[in-house]
Amino acid sequence: MLQQPLPAEITRLIPAETDARIATARKSLADDLLILGHHYQRDEIIKWADFRGDSLKLSQLAAEHPEAKTIIFCGVHFMAESADILTTANQAVILPNMSAGCSMADMASSRQVEACWEDLAEVTDTSRIVPITYVNSTAALKAFVGRNGGASCTSSNAKKVVEWALERGDKLLFFPDQHLGRNTAVALGLDADNDMLLWDPYKPFGGVTPKEVRAKRVLLWKGHCSVHGRFNVDQIAKARQDYTGVKVIVHPECPLDVVQAADLNGSTEYIIKAVSESPAGSVWAVGTEINLVSRLAQEHPDKTIFCLDPVVCPCSTMYRIHPHYLLWVMENLLDGVVVNQVKVPPAIAADARLALDRMLAIS
Ligand code: SF4
Repeated sequence: MLQQPLPAEITRLIPAETDARIATARKSLADDLLILGHHYQRDEIIKWADFRGDSLKLSQLAAEHPEAKTIIFCGVHFMAESADILTTANQAVILPNMSAGCSMADMASSRQVEACWEDLAEVTDTSRIVPITYVNSTAALKAFVGRNGGASCTSSNAKKVVEWALERGDKLLFFPDQHLGRNTAVALGLDADNDMLLWDPYKPFGGVTPKEVRAKRVLLWKGHCSVHGRFNVDQIAKARQDYTGVKVIVHPECPLDVVQAADLNGSTEYIIKAVSESPAGSVWAVGTEINLVSRLAQEHPDKTIFCLDPVVCPCSTMYRIHPHYLLWVMENLLDGVVVNQVKVPPAIAADARLALDRMLAIS
């Protein structure tokens, strides 16, 4: 679904006018509305969020609030889909700007993954391959995984889910993020060269050979996050040179060499906890999205916190949730109109829920 243009009178509002109208709408909508804000959202949006968190935490929060008739999900499209799957049929999940997608999720379409599965079936027994999808994927891919005995994972529980998959089958197919898959498998003792291969959906037979497919245990999809893919080991070396005693913490969507050069790596929630709980005077170089890093720095003035990448690296798709879009969806709700509802078709939602429920049972 494409995003329709906003009314011109909204686009002309200055920030103070936009805020005043959002505040009025917020008051009128009261408990009928829940606003969720992902950690990577800009401050002008986060300040309106009833809760902030990572994608899974926000979806679980949505499920814990059945009293809210409407949930405005200030995140990206796949997150709103997960919230819709995990909430009741009576609740509407709204994405303020329909063009807020995720470049990583877009790197694996269900057509490409189905084609890969068919290719694999020609050379190996796919009933012995466990598909794992990072939650940063479309509902259709989660449904594929649910139908084929696999599970979703997040960056917090990837290790447990991959361990489960390796015990359950001979191989796993991990998509869409090659880095999270590789980092997790390496953390479990597998070898990045000898045990894994990279499946490129744009090459015939993924750019690999049937012999390699039969030999490797971990089949990684060639996808990545455009934000976390920017971090490199030179930035880490520079941070260590410039700041004595600096601790480097990165997200596992970063490449393997970056994760290995860092002191710590973990999910967004893990990064927030590690930095927040460190003693005053700590120095942190953080390899994740800039809005989160800037907010951590503002909230902890007793610590030195900076982004590893000197060139600001916002998630450009998250950034599409501008306050004007938030105002527009809220004022429509005041008029009794639900715009930008994200609704996963029931058949897809049922299979996708299998993948999400398996993940929750494993975690
Ligand atoms: S930070 Fe990366 S993975 Fe997360 S929503 Fe943005 S593009 Fe997608």
